[in-house]
Parts: sequence; C-alpha cells; structure tokens
Amino acid sequence: MPRDDWKKLPRLYVTDPLLPDGAVSLTDAQQHYLQHVMRRAADDRILLFNGTDGEWLASLVAKGKKNISARCLERTRAQAEESELWLLFAPLKRDHLDYLVQKASELGVTHLMPVATQHTVAERVNLVRLRAIAMEAAEQCERLSLPEILAPLPLPKALENIKTQRLFACVEGGTALPVAEAFSQYRQDRQAAFLVGPEGGFSKEEMEIIRKHAKSVPIHLGPRILRADTAALAALACWQAVCGDWR
Ligand code: SAH
Repeated sequence: MPRDDWKKLPRLYVTDPLLPDGAVSLTDAQQHYLQHVMRRAADDRILLFNGTDGEWLASLVAKGKKNISARCLERTRAQAEESELWLLFAPLKRDHLDYLVQKASELGVTHLMPVATQHTVAERVNLVRLRAIAMEAAEQCERLSLPEILAPLPLPKALENIKTQRLFACVEGGTALPVAEAFSQYRQDRQAAFLVGPEGGFSKEEMEIIRKHAKSVPIHLGPRILRADTAALAALACWQAVCGDWR
C-alpha cells in the first residue's frame, strides 16, 4: 500500500510492543472508535505507534463476536530521535488549558509541566483529561511519541528540576531579549525549556527567582500583552522555526 494511502488510515497510540506479526491489544475506547465511529472491521488497516518502535501498519483482527485487536504487518516509519522541549506553564482556566495542551502537542513539546505560582487562578489540573487531549493530538499530527504531562509543582521546585541547558522565561517588557534574537544565540541547543506565567503575571519574588536562575534567559514576545496560552505557543513556534524541527 503506497504511503499516501496510509495517511487516510486511523492512527492510534498503543502501549504494546510493535514487531513483525505482533499482536496488539486495543482499549475498549479504541475498539469502539474503530468499529462504531470509523466503521472499520476485521482485515481493515490502521496505523499504530507506541513512542519507541516507530509507526506500524496493522490489520484489525476479530476477537470473538464484538471485540477486535490488531496484528502488525510492516513498519511504516522508524522511531525518530526527539529533542526535549519542556513547557512550564501556570495552569489556566479549563478551555485555555485544553487548547494549550493540544497546540503544544502539535508543536512538538515533549514535557508539559503545570507550575503553581502566586497568581495562579486555575482550579485543580485534571491530568487524565490533559493526557487524553495530548494523545489525540499526537495521533492526529502524526507524532511518533506522546508528550509527557507531569504533576503540578510549585514554581521554585519546578525550576530546581530543569534538565535542559536553558530556560527561556517569557516576560513582557523589561530587560528581556527579543525572542528570535535570544533563540538565534542558542541555535546549537538541541533542547530547551520554556516558562510562561499566569494571567496575573509573575509576582516580584517569582521574577527574582527566575532572573537569578542560572539557566534562565528572559525573552519577550513583542509589545502586546499576550494571554499565557498565546505566549507559550508563540515562543514554541519561534523556537521550532529558528532552532527546531521546522528548519
Ligand atoms: N503581567 C501581565 C499578565 C500576564 S500575561 C499583565 O500585566 O496583564 C501571562 C503570561 O504570558 C506572562 O506571565 C508572560 O509569561 C507571558 N507574556 C504575555 N505577554 C508577553 C510578552 N509580550 N512577552 C513575553 N511574555 C509575555
């Protein structure tokens, strides 16, 4: 089957290993989606990925009267090495948060970490819902991995755990560097972390902690005050264009 025929196939994230002739189990939700939404049946083809074994063409297999599973036929794409992109963000109101997780997943973020700041307004973060949004976005945008969604941490704790060389902190105005200028100074970096604040902005103390952090590079995104989700996605898009996989 030529590659562009594959594009139209349903594409699902699974947790089983993917190997030649390997059997792959599908969740109840995936079986329901395939059979009753996509009207697929035994012997129809789907694409599978699991974050480590690349992407595979698979065939649906009837299991008893109502259930289906899958059997791997051939690998369609090898697993690609991914640069770590971390997004640290203050939890937003539900709709903005769902939108942020979906768009950051499409833009290639590998780790999403909600950080609690003094002005955070949002209620509890529903990790189960956010992980489902990230999975659906990864399936749709043809990623070979799922972004990891971490449990919320207080900002100081989150900053202690930064594993990337740099933390690009989005701060409006002040002495921050214009984003493209800042990124072009770090073109050789293969990974990065980004931080956006809550609707109420960072507190003075938080700005101190951020500016004092050894890895932090304050960046600004122009003269207008952006919503946190806009700022996060704008910074990510700039990064992918200047340093990332949009080149
Ligand atoms: N302090 C703002 C509100 C914060 S906007 C006010 O006075 O209304 C939410 C977050 O988006 C900020 O904490 C910052 O991280 C980011 N942000 C918004 N506009 C930005 C800009 N022009 N440049 C850099 N970051 C920005």
